[in-house]
Amino acid sequence: MVMADDRAAHSTRLERMEDLVSLCARRGYIFPSSEVYGGINGFWDYGPLGAELKNNLKACWWQSVVRERDDVEGLDSSIICHPRTWEASGHVEHFSDPMVDCRACKKRFRADQLEEAGACSAREGSSEHDFTEPRRFNLMLQTRIGASEDAASLAYLRAETCQPIFTDFKRVREAARQKIPFGIAQIGKAFRNEINPRNFTFRSREFEQAELEFFCHPSEREKWFAHWLEERLRFHREIGLTAENLRTRAHAEDELAHYAKQAVDVEFRFPFGWQEIEGIHDRGDWDLSRHGEYSGKDLGVTDPETKEHFVPMVIETSVGIDRTCLALLCQAYAVEDLGGGETRTLLRLHSSLAPITAAVLPLSKKLAEPARKLHRELRRGWNVFYDDSGNIGRRYRRQDEAGTPFCITYDFDSQEDGRVTVRERDSMAQERVALDAVAGYLRERVECGA
Ligand code: ATP
Repeated sequence: MVMADDRAAHSTRLERMEDLVSLCARRGYIFPSSEVYGGINGFWDYGPLGAELKNNLKACWWQSVVRERDDVEGLDSSIICHPRTWEASGHVEHFSDPMVDCRACKKRFRADQLEEAGACSAREGSSEHDFTEPRRFNLMLQTRIGASEDAASLAYLRAETCQPIFTDFKRVREAARQKIPFGIAQIGKAFRNEINPRNFTFRSREFEQAELEFFCHPSEREKWFAHWLEERLRFHREIGLTAENLRTRAHAEDELAHYAKQAVDVEFRFPFGWQEIEGIHDRGDWDLSRHGEYSGKDLGVTDPETKEHFVPMVIETSVGIDRTCLALLCQAYAVEDLGGGETRTLLRLHSSLAPITAAVLPLSKKLAEPARKLHRELRRGWNVFYDDSGNIGRRYRRQDEAGTPFCITYDFDSQEDGRVTVRERDSMAQERVALDAVAGYLRERVECGA
C-alpha cells in the first residue's frame, strides 16, 4: 500500500495528449463539435464538466481583473463590429500567416511551422513534400449581414476581443466616470481561420479570450506594464499552474509589432512543448489613434489638472480561456499507483475551479432521504453532485477522474452521530465532520484562487 506522503513519487504526469483527450471525451469535458457528422476541424464543444470548468475560470479572472479593482470596468460587446473597425486595426491588411500547399498530398501548412509537417504520404520514392511558394492567408472569418449579397454587407467575426474595447473607450470612460489610468476588460469569443488547427483545443478556429486594455499616461507605461505582468503571473500561480510549468518569454525587437514597445508571453509547459497561453503587450497609442483617425472622433483625453490633451497608451493583457483550461487539465492529470497492481486516474484541479466541488454519496439507497437533504443544502453554495449507484470505491474513482475535490459519504453511523465522512481527493484522507459544519468546511477550503 502506498502512503499519502509517497503519493507524488508514485504518480505519473501527463505525457501523451491522447490520454487527456480520451478522458475529456469519456467524462464529458471537451469533445469535437458536430461529432455525429465526423466533427469539424478546429471547433470544440465543452460538455457538462467542461462548461463548469470554463465558467469557474472566467469567474476567477473577472473577480481578479474587474471586481476587485476600482480602476477596471467590464464590457460585453457584440461579436460583429462595423467592418471599418478591422480596417483601422490593420487586420484587413495584415492579419495573415504565410501558407504553403503540398502539390502531392494537397495538405496545407503554415510556412513558419514546417518542422511540424511530417512526411508526405503521396509522393513516390520520396517522403518530402512538394511545397508551393509561401502566400499570405488572411485569418479573419467573414460573414454577410443583411439581405443583399453586395460588398457593403461584408462583415467579420472578431479576430480578437479587444478592438471593441477601443471603439467603446470614450463611452465607457464617460459612463463610468473614470479618469486615466483605468482599464476596460471583457471575455468573449474570437474567431481565426487558422491554417492548421492542432494540439486539441490549443489552436482552434473559435476560442475565448479574456482581455484587459489598460489606458495610461505616456509617462507611466513602463510602470503599468510591470504591474500587469506581475498581476497576471500571480493569477496563473493562484489557479494552480506551478512554477516549473510556467515561464515568461520577452519578444525580441524583430518580433514586436511595429507599434509595440514591449511584449512578454506567458508560456506553459504542455506535453507538446512550451507554448504561449497569455500575451502582455505595450500597444502604445496605436489603437486609439487609428480608430480616432478612421472614425473622425477625438479619442484623446484631457488631464483635468494640467489641461494636457493626449492619446492614452495601452497596456494589454490577453489570455486564452481555452488554452488556460487545457493547461489546467494537463497540469492536473495524474495516474497514481496505489500498489497491488491498482491505479487511479485523477485531476488535481484547484478546488475553486473544479467543475464539481463536492459529491454527496450515501452508502446505501436506504439513506437517500437525509443524504438528499444535505445535497439540497450544499448545492445552494456550490456545484454538488449526488450519486447513490454502485460500490463506494467506484464512485470515489469516478469523482477522482472528474476532479471533484471532496466526497461526502453519508453512512449508517451518520444517523446516530450526526456526522459524515469527508474524503479529500489528492491525499484520500478522510475525516468525520458534523452535518451542520460541512458547509463551513467547504467554504474554508474553496475560494476563488485569484
Ligand atoms: P499564436 O502565436 O499561438 O497564434 P497569438 O500570439 O496570435 O498566438 P494573441 O493574438 O496574442 O495570440 O492572442 C492572445 C491569446 O489568445 C493567446 O495567448 C492565446 O491564449 C489565445 N489564442 C490566440 N489564438 C488562439 C487559437 N487559435 N486558439 C486558441 N486560443 C488562441
